[in-house]
Amino acid sequence: MILYVPSSGRSLAEFGISIPAAPDRAARILKALRSDEILKPREAEWLAGARVAATTKADLLRAHENGYVERLFGPEVEDILKVVFELVDAEGNYRRYDPTRAARPLRELFDPELRNLSGTYQACIEAIERGFCFFFGGGAHHAHPGFGHGFCVLNDSAVALRRLQAEHRIRRAWIIDVDAHKGDGTADIFRDDPSVVTLSVHMARGWPLDGAKIRPDGTINPAFIPSDIDVPVDSEEEPEYVPRLQAALEKLDSYPIPDLALVLLGADPYEHDELPSTTPLNLTLEQLAARDRLIYDFLAERRIPQAYLMAGGYGSRAWEPYPAFLKYALYRELGASPVTAEDRSIHARRAPD
Ligand SMILES: [Zn+2]
Repeated sequence: MILYVPSSGRSLAEFGISIPAAPDRAARILKALRSDEILKPREAEWLAGARVAATTKADLLRAHENGYVERLFGPEVEDILKVVFELVDAEGNYRRYDPTRAARPLRELFDPELRNLSGTYQACIEAIERGFCFFFGGGAHHAHPGFGHGFCVLNDSAVALRRLQAEHRIRRAWIIDVDAHKGDGTADIFRDDPSVVTLSVHMARGWPLDGAKIRPDGTINPAFIPSDIDVPVDSEEEPEYVPRLQAALEKLDSYPIPDLALVLLGADPYEHDELPSTTPLNLTLEQLAARDRLIYDFLAERRIPQAYLMAGGYGSRAWEPYPAFLKYALYRELGASPVTAEDRSIHARRAPD
C-alpha cells in the first residue's frame, strides 16, 4: 500500500549539490500517517519495505539506448551526472555545486538512482496484487532514451512498465503525470508505443519547454515530443486545473482499459514549492487535494490498479500535499470508516459534486 525504502531518498547536500530538495519528505509524511487514529493501529496492513530483486542493465535497456547505459556504468558517469543535475554553466564554471563541501563522490549518486528504479517496479507489483500502492520516490520523467536532464538520470516509470510487460504481468498501462513539469522523457520513450498511453498536465511555459521547438537542423527539440494527451496550464489558470484534468481523464476512456495506471503525483505545482522553475504554477492545498482525489476516484471506479510515485517537490513544505491524499486513499483501501474531523471536512467539500 505504502512503500517506504529509507535508502531510496537522496540527500543532494551530501554530494555538495545545493538544489532545494526535500530528503525528509517521506519521514514527515509517514509521521503524519502514523499519528492518525485509524491508521496508527493498522500500520502492518498499509506499510511495506523493499522486497524485490535489484534492477539490472537488461532492465534499463528496454527503455534506454545501449550507448547511454554503457556510459552510465563507466568512468563517464560523473560527467553525465553533472549535466543531469545542471552543475556546470555555459562558461564551464560550477553552479549549485561545491565539491569541497561534498561528503561523498558524485559518482555514488548513481546508486540511489538504481534503488529508485527497483522501488518504482515494486510499487507497480504491489498495485497489481493489491489494487493500490504509493511509493515514497520515483517519477524521473525527464530521462529520455539516450540522455537524462532535469535531475532525472533514468526513467523509472518506463523501466518498470517495460519490465512488467517483458514478464507478462501487464500488457497495457496508462501514465498520468501531474508533476509541474512536462513529462518529456516519458513522452519520448513511449512515442511509438500504443501499449502505454501518456497523459501529462504541466506548466504551459518554462522548463523544459523554454527552448525553441524546432532545432536549427530541422529536428524537433525532444522536450516538445507530445504525450498522447498533453494539458498545458498557464499562470493565472489555476482555477482551470482540476476541470482540465477531469476532461483529460475522460479522454483516457477512449483507450482500452489498462492493466495498471502509474501516477506521477508531483507536489511541485504547490504554491509553496521552492524550486524557481515552478513559480509559474501555484496550486493551493485544496486544489492539490481535489486533483489527487479526482485521479484516485477515476481509477478506483474503473477498478484499474493504481501505483503512485512521489515525483517532484522542493523545499521544506514539499511534504504537505501528501498526507490528506494518502489518508483518503488508505481509508478506502482498508475499508475503514472515516471518522476524523479532517476526513469529515473532505466529505463536506465533496458534497457539491
Ligand atoms: Zn517537476
